[in-house]
Amino acid sequence: MATTIKKTGTALILSCMDLRVQDETSGHLQAYLLDEYDHVILAGAALGASHPTYEHWRKTFWDHVHLAIELHAVKELVIVEHEDCGAYKAFVLPESERAYIGKLEDPEARAREEACHHRVASALAKEVAERHGLETTLLYAALDPKDTDKAVLRPFAVPAAT
Ligand SMILES: [Zn+2]
Repeated sequence: MATTIKKTGTALILSCMDLRVQDETSGHLQAYLLDEYDHVILAGAALGASHPTYEHWRKTFWDHVHLAIELHAVKELVIVEHEDCGAYKAFVLPESERAYIGKLEDPEARAREEACHHRVASALAKEVAERHGLETTLLYAALDPKDTDKAVLRPFAVPAAT
């Protein structure tokens, strides 16, 4: 199982609530970070933690970042985004981006959705780095178009955001 989790010590995980990716996320984290991570779950992962629609989610996220640093000296944030995310469909992204979410039969749309997740997660990672100096690993759970209960966690397949 490929990963880029850096294992700098304990980590804080941010992932989405989506039921389709829980088993894969847990399996990945237990394989690489068994008993070495705190876990915050918000619908939309990085989008849930940063979008103004639910300002209290943003506060909840940052409260947990502070607690994880204080209690467990976390050095790394791992953000797990996933394909066909309902929060990305529901929250107010530009319509041009929302139209690409969950089009699993269309390779170009899938690539655009992944780029959208990468942009949102990278912005949150930058903020966490600036405020707390944490390293961040970004992972993406791509769904199997033939069986969306199956997902593969991997690094993002898009270039780093500028
Ligand atoms: Zn989701």
